[in-house]
Amino acid sequence: MTVDEQYDVVIVGAGHGGTQAAITLRQAGFGGSIALLSEETELPYERPPLSKDYLAGTKSSDRILIRPARFWPEKSIDLILATRAVRVDPDTKIIHCSDGRAIGYGCQSASKKDPLSASKRDPLRRAA
Ligand SMILES: Cc1cc2nc3c(=O)[nH]c(=O)nc-3n(C[C@H](O)[C@H](O)[C@H](O)COP(=O)(O)OP(=O)(O)OC[C@H]3O[C@@H](n4cnc5c(N)ncnc54)[C@H](O)[C@@H]3O)c2cc1C
Repeated sequence: MTVDEQYDVVIVGAGHGGTQAAITLRQAGFGGSIALLSEETELPYERPPLSKDYLAGTKSSDRILIRPARFWPEKSIDLILATRAVRVDPDTKIIHCSDGRAIGYGCQSASKKDPLSASKRDPLRRAA
């Protein structure tokens, strides 16, 4: 089966756990491509201030983001929003998504020398 996109690491869920995993990978010098897959439509946000501040009207939505919007492209972390992972096939290393996309995962070319190069490449070329 062909994949629509290919990443070295795909993290399913962009809550505190998923986002911190992606952030920590970059902080630790991981240079491969990373995707954060989220069924939610919003940029990753903090849960505690959601109820205490945002819904109470004392903070705007951009002030409860886990990181500002520009952070993710700066770190070459692709946010794939509004997409639910419906099946993970560990044999083929493919995540099947609610919109029919197939996203491949598995380290292929992490490079510490050029940490952001991997995720800047055309994902369709990588999938070939
Ligand atoms: C309103 C609110 C207030 C809170 N306040 C506090 C607090 O004050 N103190 C405290 O300690 N804790 C608080 N919590 C709990 C704390 O936020 C959670 O423990 C924490 O969010 C858990 O993080 P997580 O990343 O493990 O999971 P989650 O935050 O649940 O994130 C998981 C993400 O993965 C997505 N997801 C799941 N399955 C799929 C799939 N198949 N495909 C794509 N995406 C998927 C979900 O939509 C979600 O966005 C609060 C939680 C809420 C909701």
